[in-house]
Amino acid sequence: VEERASSDNLSVSQPPFSSDFIAELVKLLGQSHVLTERFDCQAYDSDWTKIPGDAHLVARPGSTAEVSQVLALCSRYQVAVVPSGGRTGLAGGATVKKGQLALSLNRLNRLGEVDRIGRTITVQAGVTVESVHQKAKEFSLTWPIDLASKGTATIGGNLSTNAGGVRVIRYGMTRKWVTAIEAVLMSGEIIRLNDGLEKNNTGYDLLQLLIGAEGTLAVVTEATLKLTKRSTNSQVFFFHVPSLEKLNDLLTHAWAGPFQINAFEFLSQDCLKLVQRNLKRGNNVETDSPFYVLMEVEPFQDDLTTWMEATFEKGYATNGAHGQSPEQQKELWSIREGITESIAQVGPVVKYDVAVPVKSIAEFLNSVRTQYQKTPRQFDLYLFGHYGDGSPHLNLVKQSSASQEAFEASISTFEKELFPLLKQFKGSASSEHGVGVAKKHWVKFSRTPTEMNLFAMIKRSFDPKGLLNPGKIIDLA
Ligand SMILES: Cc1cc2nc3c(=O)[nH]c(=O)nc-3n(C[C@H](O)[C@H](O)[C@H](O)COP(=O)(O)OP(=O)(O)OC[C@H]3O[C@@H](n4cnc5c(N)ncnc54)[C@H](O)[C@@H]3O)c2cc1C
Repeated sequence: VEERASSDNLSVSQPPFSSDFIAELVKLLGQSHVLTERFDCQAYDSDWTKIPGDAHLVARPGSTAEVSQVLALCSRYQVAVVPSGGRTGLAGGATVKKGQLALSLNRLNRLGEVDRIGRTITVQAGVTVESVHQKAKEFSLTWPIDLASKGTATIGGNLSTNAGGVRVIRYGMTRKWVTAIEAVLMSGEIIRLNDGLEKNNTGYDLLQLLIGAEGTLAVVTEATLKLTKRSTNSQVFFFHVPSLEKLNDLLTHAWAGPFQINAFEFLSQDCLKLVQRNLKRGNNVETDSPFYVLMEVEPFQDDLTTWMEATFEKGYATNGAHGQSPEQQKELWSIREGITESIAQVGPVVKYDVAVPVKSIAEFLNSVRTQYQKTPRQFDLYLFGHYGDGSPHLNLVKQSSASQEAFEASISTFEKELFPLLKQFKGSASSEHGVGVAKKHWVKFSRTPTEMNLFAMIKRSFDPKGLLNPGKIIDLA
């Protein structure tokens, strides 16, 4: 097991930018779109992980042509570039080392018109997910990728992490909802992939290769997104579930219910308590149960009473709330959506968005909890996530009494116990947040040596000089 990403291996000092390079950059973009003061640059250091970064130069191009010119310039001067979206990433993918240029895509914020026949929308990379939702809503449509960071997360970041979110159980991941990408290679060459075609079997799918590439292959500047009918009759349940085994029973029971499941999200009692304490949300929910499920469904019939009665009679849930009005549903969702924020308020946290087969998730989580309890730890374990997709999030939060060193050592020990467990359950190190730097040392446990070699060859063929988001996903030898 290699060292975890830490301030030590991220602060490798690089030569400063040459004055000629900065002058050419300013000539391209104008002084106001080139940030050179450390005070202005520090917001671009890192993402939500707060893995330490050290940005000293930020370029803010306003068009694809400018992105192309900036990348060509960086190529010429051998300056490494880190694409930067909303910096809500949870893997350190947008973390900037000293000597690397932060390339902010936020000025690429043009939101195109909705194509009502093709049911698509073309947007630039810096547009937020929420803006896409708002625009699509005007036509009773939606882009079904939904996540708590939607107000800040950008389409460029979403595509580059192949984000999942809370409705994957119904709609799948980001990569299912994209029909065209415009991107710029590190050389400055602009590529347009797939042109909005629904079907295109002419060789390798380069569009799909860029999705989830975490900005290591090309910079996404524009995308055409597939839209779908917006659900108007959804209902939300918030169940109190007595055990992980009952969570499985509840999910099986729900699959047989008179509805389509849109979301099946779980949280532990500890998570609920944190949201209640730190965000003052869900305070009317009794903290009497070890687990809770937020389930959103689209009913095929008006009356769900029979299904509900069976849920309680069979003991799959001991209590529950049913949100029918948009206000009630919003309130229930706000509990689930507040977990990441309320955990962040406690202190340093290490997050694992592991994936395991859905049928094994209860057994896997029980094994994780048993392992956790075997010895005193310097962190508390919070469990929540996308249960119905086999995507539980393990959050390891530093105990207030622990020193940073003791916390990191304790995490290291725990990781060595977690890897074999994941292997045993045929799981993956990341279900949706990506690798970035945070999980680089895990990749080889989820991928074979042959796959790792292919990764390196793909990276080299897109970016032979290794200047685009270097050190993310893999290290080139
Ligand atoms: C409260 C909260 C909840 C979240 N919930 C979820 C969830 O449910 N599911 C989920 O999958 N994720 C979730 N996330 C993680 C995060 O929001 C997503 O990964 C999001 O897609 C990142 O978008 P961003 O614009 O912030 O990207 P950034 O953090 O800026 O960047 C992410 C990666 O993409 C690269 N990148 C950014 N823009 C571009 C571009 N234009 N071209 C090429 N590369 C680019 C960066 O270099 C980096 O590697 C959550 C985060 C938070 C804070």
